[in-house]
Amino acid sequence: MHKMFIGGNWLDARDGATLPVINPADGQEFARIPRGTAHEVDLAVKAAREALSGPWGKLSATERGRILMKIGQQVMDHAEELAQLEARDTGKPLTTARNDIQVLARYFEFYGSAADKVHGEVIPFVNGHTVTLVRERLGVTAHIIPWNYPAQMFGRSVGPALAMGNAAVVKPAEDTSLSTLRIAELATAAGLPPGALNIVTGLGEEAGAALTAHPGINYISFTGSNEVGAMVQAAAAKNAVKCTLELGGKSPQIVFDDVDMERAVPIIVRAIVQNAGQTCTAGSRLLVQESIYDEFLKRVAERFAQVKVGTPEMDFDCGPVMNPAQLKRVNRYIDEARAAGIPVLAEGSIAADAPKGGYFVKPTLFGPVPRTAKLACEEVFGPVMAAFPFKDEADAIALANGTDYGLLAAVWTENGGRQQRVAKAVQAGQVFINGYGAGGGVELPFGGTKRSGHGREKGFLALEDVSTTKTIVLYHGE
Ligand code: NAD
Repeated sequence: MHKMFIGGNWLDARDGATLPVINPADGQEFARIPRGTAHEVDLAVKAAREALSGPWGKLSATERGRILMKIGQQVMDHAEELAQLEARDTGKPLTTARNDIQVLARYFEFYGSAADKVHGEVIPFVNGHTVTLVRERLGVTAHIIPWNYPAQMFGRSVGPALAMGNAAVVKPAEDTSLSTLRIAELATAAGLPPGALNIVTGLGEEAGAALTAHPGINYISFTGSNEVGAMVQAAAAKNAVKCTLELGGKSPQIVFDDVDMERAVPIIVRAIVQNAGQTCTAGSRLLVQESIYDEFLKRVAERFAQVKVGTPEMDFDCGPVMNPAQLKRVNRYIDEARAAGIPVLAEGSIAADAPKGGYFVKPTLFGPVPRTAKLACEEVFGPVMAAFPFKDEADAIALANGTDYGLLAAVWTENGGRQQRVAKAVQAGQVFINGYGAGGGVELPFGGTKRSGHGREKGFLALEDVSTTKTIVLYHGE
């Protein structure tokens, strides 16, 4: 039985209520977490507020940075243990979980070393004055973490907040709280003072809603669905606090007729099957110039048909999806597309010896998909790819921008002018040219346009989201 982490103490829910933790690879319960509610959220926000006026709030930026770097080192020292825990909790292949833990460590290294590099400015003004712009922490930051990359998302959201001297209250997803709790233990061992980091486990509609509505918080970072994102933004508006929303995507891979097929095909397939397609940046739409559509799709289909699904220990390309709701949702998209007569170009395979109770989905490649089909517009959040032919550059851009989302995009072409034109015309927070994602992208500002959300995480820009400025105007005479 796990406990929550509030004000440096490990606690049960006041009423003793718990939630099961299910292994997605076999559907069996293997642990329980406390079902925190508004009561525990209130304790956590108070503990965070106290930390701001206690030892944590008094540290210099350099001292904070050192602690963050030590957290990164603790993560590296316990990397295999954390990866095993993450794989069990999420069902993801061990190789993916190991990579996630490396990226988690990178976040703490990056933001640890950034903590004392954030400068203010001196602003020219009326003679006889000196104006300084200083950057300050926001105060208590709230972090609602999703289940697809629990450890990575923790690092992405909490790393910059702590670097700027905020005190954090984290609500991990109810399906995947275990790595977050273990990281809190490691952070304490690294010297993080009590109250700087608080973890309240529980349901989204209970603990999550109580946290986002709490009048004592100064900022909300949310990653998850559009429906909940809208509720979070409404809660933020009520208390007039800043929020960063990361709500997913329907990201296009735009492939022109001069593509380097050898390089592109494996990267494109990996970008949709990675993490069983449960990645906000999944490259779920494959847009291919009609002159090479058949040849390119033949190669993608060959590769796609080799994709294997199994348990974390089997360590294939794909694990199970997260939970029964997710299984139902992904299979519904696949069944509806088949029923509508959209051609299936390839399917992956589920290992024959994968446990029967696991939430396994067959990766499926559809094409050509009608431009108005659900598969063309809605985020499936599963290993399902939709292919579309396009005519020319203008048609590709119109198709790429033809959804409500705008998170990532990739342009595959050797033509330098076209690389620039298309990258500029595509509506997305990040555009890759002849590639797709690399090394976790910790250093690269990231976030959505349109319905994919707003605000920027990763890189130095994230430090702006979790801080504010103060303009100090001094009159000293000429
Ligand atoms: P969700 O939005 O319901 O959950 C994400 C987080 O929000 C969890 O920690 C959850 O506990 C919390 N939450 C839920 N209700 C809340 C509320 N009322 N107030 C505050 N917090 C609340 O996502 P889900 O149900 O786990 O997944 C559904 C869909 O969301 C997926 O199929 C996918 O499309 C999307 N999703 C996107 C991402 C992403 O990275 N963009 C991640 C996970 C899920």
